Amino acid sequence: MAILVIRNAGTNNIIHNIRSTKMTYAITSKYGHTYLGNSSPSKMEVHQVSNEKTNCQLSEILSAGHAVGFSPDTLAQAHQDGYDNCAYCIGGSTR
Ligand SMILES: [Zn+2]
Repeated sequence: MAILVIRNAGTNNIIHNIRSTKMTYAITSKYGHTYLGNSSPSKMEVHQVSNEKTNCQLSEILSAGHAVGFSPDTLAQAHQDGYDNCAYCIGGSTR
């Protein structure tokens, strides 16, 4: 397992430390990300940004402050972090 400390650029708060197994971090834009997670406890879905559908509501997820990126930015990592596939842009729910 990689040892990694990620700090929020604005607040300098440590988002992850070496004890963390969750490798997600808050994001404010979908650009530059392959996958975007919805961290809302009732959702916990991962979206593929390049295949975004209207029903994904990525703008709403971002504006609600629930958008997260994955490190590494892979579907496997999203699954490891407890996110399920979006039915619209990825399909094949793993739940
Ligand atoms: Zn989606």
